[in-house]
Amino acid sequence: MTPLLNTTAPLWAETDILVIGAGSAGCVAALAAASDRGLSVMLVERYGFPGGTSTQMLDTFYGFFTPGHTPRKIVGGWPDRVVNELDRAGAVFLRPNTYGAGTGVNYNPERLKLVWDQLIAQQGVRYLLHTTLIDVAVEGERHACLFWNKGGLGRVLARRVIDASGDADFCHLAGFTYETAGEHEPAQSLTTTFRMSNVDLVAYERAGGKALLKQKMADAVDSGRHPLPRKEGSAHEMNAVGCISTVAVKVGNTSALDGDSLTRAEVEGRRQAFVYEAFFQQDVPGFAQSNIIGLSHQIGVRETRRVYGEHRLTKAECLAGLLPDDRIFLCGAPIEDHRQDQHGGDETYWEYIPGSGVYGVSYGTIVPKGSDTVWMVGRCFSATHDAHASCRSMAQTMSMGQAAGLAAAQSIRQDESASRLSVSTLQNGLRQLGAVLDIPDAIADTSRDGWRMNVSANAGHPLSS
Ligand SMILES: Cc1cc2nc3c(=O)[nH]c(=O)nc-3n(C[C@H](O)[C@H](O)[C@H](O)COP(=O)(O)OP(=O)(O)OC[C@H]3O[C@@H](n4cnc5c(N)ncnc54)[C@H](O)[C@@H]3O)c2cc1C
Repeated sequence: MTPLLNTTAPLWAETDILVIGAGSAGCVAALAAASDRGLSVMLVERYGFPGGTSTQMLDTFYGFFTPGHTPRKIVGGWPDRVVNELDRAGAVFLRPNTYGAGTGVNYNPERLKLVWDQLIAQQGVRYLLHTTLIDVAVEGERHACLFWNKGGLGRVLARRVIDASGDADFCHLAGFTYETAGEHEPAQSLTTTFRMSNVDLVAYERAGGKALLKQKMADAVDSGRHPLPRKEGSAHEMNAVGCISTVAVKVGNTSALDGDSLTRAEVEGRRQAFVYEAFFQQDVPGFAQSNIIGLSHQIGVRETRRVYGEHRLTKAECLAGLLPDDRIFLCGAPIEDHRQDQHGGDETYWEYIPGSGVYGVSYGTIVPKGSDTVWMVGRCFSATHDAHASCRSMAQTMSMGQAAGLAAAQSIRQDESASRLSVSTLQNGLRQLGAVLDIPDAIADTSRDGWRMNVSANAGHPLSS
């Protein structure tokens, strides 16, 4: 920490709740916190647009539904409202899957940027883009967060902070302890996603679709025809005619916390993307006239720092399907571990949640150990490597944000510390928002496109009409 620099920088703002990072977790944290209209909420993001991974590289929310033949919808509240806004604009469809991470909610990522912007404005959140957190200190009873943007350095004083930076930048700078990816188990690999246009999807499906693609990838690798980094990898239809999006590139042995290492990964990710382009054009029916029209804004990082929290989600808890009394959301996603040279090769390792197929996640996983006034949400929450590999889909990161936003507001209203908060009061608030904390009996009807998410459960809320 550099308190001297911090205290001499001009004061930009004072706020009750400061959310750092406008990814899926941070946006929802700010929206939920601002449900308490009497409190000031500020959201700061280093890039020029909101959404983080949700808009800079992806187009599918997983985790709303359990995978398998009997999908249950296990997430609700603010995440539903985000989907409803996309639906209103005709920018979303359901992609039923019985395999992988289950039914996906497929959206137009550019539209999602607009949806995040609009919801943030409607909720009265103070919003600052192009601004990066670089240091923290304590001033009286408040956190003094030092930011940098093109205007120079500036301080924001906050009573409560929600670290939604993905990399736990606030927690790192504030001295909370954490595990770094790769410290105990191999870190998950990184992926540059890319989008292709002018694909003849009818010809592709007629020729064999996904099954054929998998076969072609394996043939390309085995024959040496195209040096693809892996034999698997997904390509799916986008929310735009004749366009597909991929999760195929694989860059291992990278620390996303090291500038040089991350630079090499960005360069390698782009190189691999164009190896895939040649493969698609030459080997896959329907792709002859297609080409890449977009690479992810940055290479996709699955894990960096995972903060040690009041509770740490473990693989055993996930696989046992535990529903702890202090749960703040549910998860049914399998462990999906993109490792290199593990489990007999370089492909993704899957392990499904047995039994009910669902587990609950404790409040303590979003509270740094010993924290009075700080929460961490999204991919830096408190979990072991394996548990994190299950509990990182965006329906879950949004749910963490929802819980932390309400918790931060509650802790101010009740003058209570983060770690001593009444979780039953928090759960009541979450249920009122439409969050799902108990496993539903009903099987979700995922057969329709453009399905409106849980609208009835949100009846009465201005955004759910
Ligand atoms: C390649 C890849 C594919 C995936 N596929 C899927 C999928 O298909 N579906 C799914 O549901 N999940 C998927 N996931 C997982 C999921 O996308 C992530 O776990 C989730 O998006 C993380 O959200 P987050 O808000 O925690 O972090 P992020 O989305 O990383 O957001 C963090 C935000 O904080 C900002 N930030 C960082 N540092 C600072 C700072 N110092 N100051 C200010 N701002 C800062 C960042 O710019 C960013 O906007 C995938 C992940 C990857 C990497």
